[in-house]
Amino acid sequence: MRNYMEALQHGHPMAAARMVRRERYAWPGGYALALVTTDGGVLCPDCVRDQWASVSWSHRVGCSDGFRPAAVTAECDTDEGVTCDHCSRVIFEGFSDED
Ligand SMILES: [Zn+2]
Repeated sequence: MRNYMEALQHGHPMAAARMVRRERYAWPGGYALALVTTDGGVLCPDCVRDQWASVSWSHRVGCSDGFRPAAVTAECDTDEGVTCDHCSRVIFEGFSDED
C-alpha cells in the first residue's frame, strides 16, 4: 500500500515530488499534500505539475531556486495554514481551537 509515509521513509526528493504530482492527497486520511522545497518554500500539487520541468531540472543540477524538491508534507503535519509559494493558493487551511 502506497502512502505519503512511504515517500518520507524513502527520503528521495524526486519520489516526494512525483508523489505530490500524482496523488494530491495522502491516503489513508485524505489530507492535502504539498511539496517542500530546499529553500524552505512549499508548492501545491498544481504547481508541481505545471512546473514539473523546473522541479526535475532543479533536482538534477542541485539548484535551490525554489523548485528543488526536499520532501512531502501533509495537512496533518501542521496546524498552521500553508500557501503555495508559486501561485499563492491556500494549500492547507490550518486548524484552530477557536470557533
Ligand atoms: Zn501553487
